[in-house]
Amino acid sequence: MTAIAVTIAGSDSGGGAGIQADLKTFSALGVYGASVITALTAQNTLGVNAIHDVPPDFVTAQIDAVFSDLKVDAVKIGMLGRSAVIEAVAAGLDRWGGMPVVLDPVMVAASGDPLLVPEAVESIIAHLIPRAGLVTPNLHEAARLTGTPMAASRAEMVAQGRAILGMGARAVLIKGGHSWETEAADVLVDAAGERWFSAPRHPTENTHGTGCTLSSAIASGLAKGLDLDAAVRVGKAYLTAAIRAADALHIGAGHGPVDH
Ligand code: PLP
Repeated sequence: MTAIAVTIAGSDSGGGAGIQADLKTFSALGVYGASVITALTAQNTLGVNAIHDVPPDFVTAQIDAVFSDLKVDAVKIGMLGRSAVIEAVAAGLDRWGGMPVVLDPVMVAASGDPLLVPEAVESIIAHLIPRAGLVTPNLHEAARLTGTPMAASRAEMVAQGRAILGMGARAVLIKGGHSWETEAADVLVDAAGERWFSAPRHPTENTHGTGCTLSSAIASGLAKGLDLDAAVRVGKAYLTAAIRAADALHIGAGHGPVDH
């Protein structure tokens, strides 16, 4: 049987991040992808020109249409934009959930443009972190969620992971892609302890869609029945290859996408 994953996220008209990156990742990893779109961005590799929010009722309508028909094996959640959409997604998970949920707490695009209104951080903490099997913040997002300065050591990354676990997530993967280290080292924290996943850092400007790609790749592994550690290992390997291949793409004049 074909494994099915659903992405609940924003559309990137430039094709590099968001729903478009998620569906490319699902496809590349042999998983059937469906989508619930939370916002439309008018965007290219240079930046986000405009955002058009999808009404919460229509987010609900998409969730109900997809989950009432497709046997969903895993969910990835990305850009949500604002609190009313977050609450609609949380209610949808309560109606249809039970499968693994990977929550990428997207706040800012690679171009620096905001993708979440600041007050909605509290809604993510209240409504979605407790419903998530895995939360995948980068260093900036982990700092915002925990209300502490950006981690400057591995011990601080682990401490922030534990703080987010305390908010009700079952596991947290803090991504060290923006860190001080020569390797890109991510730490997975759950009740069993902590495990590090490292890859050599690859110097490139073309990192648009990296967060989306990793969370979707992990959701793909979970949809196929891998355990969490295996899904993170396979997902990280997929992202590392996607970053290494990015410079050969030559898409746009700004931060180009990773390759699928
Ligand atoms: N979702 C949407 C719709 C976006 O446009 C972006 C970035 O531009 C993201 C998510 C997050 O992107 P990344 O995967 O680079 O963190």
